[in-house]
Amino acid sequence: MPVYEYVCPRCEAKFERLRPMSNGHQARCPDCNTDAPRVISMFAAFTRGDRGEMSPVAGGGCACAAGGSCACAGE
Ligand SMILES: [Zn+2]
Repeated sequence: MPVYEYVCPRCEAKFERLRPMSNGHQARCPDCNTDAPRVISMFAAFTRGDRGEMSPVAGGGCACAAGGSCACAGE
């Protein structure tokens, strides 16, 4: 399953969830239980440079780099 990133519209909490692709458009906020829309996961894996180029962030887009849990945790 892909890891999707969500931003809560109520408390602005940012979190990631493993979701099936068919049901990944929103997830429940862990803080306030509000349905949060998915944000494009490119934001997690890339930053946009001054000239608009895309460059990888150290640690890549893995959820564990942002404090989440994933398959590579503990390695
Ligand atoms: Zn929330």
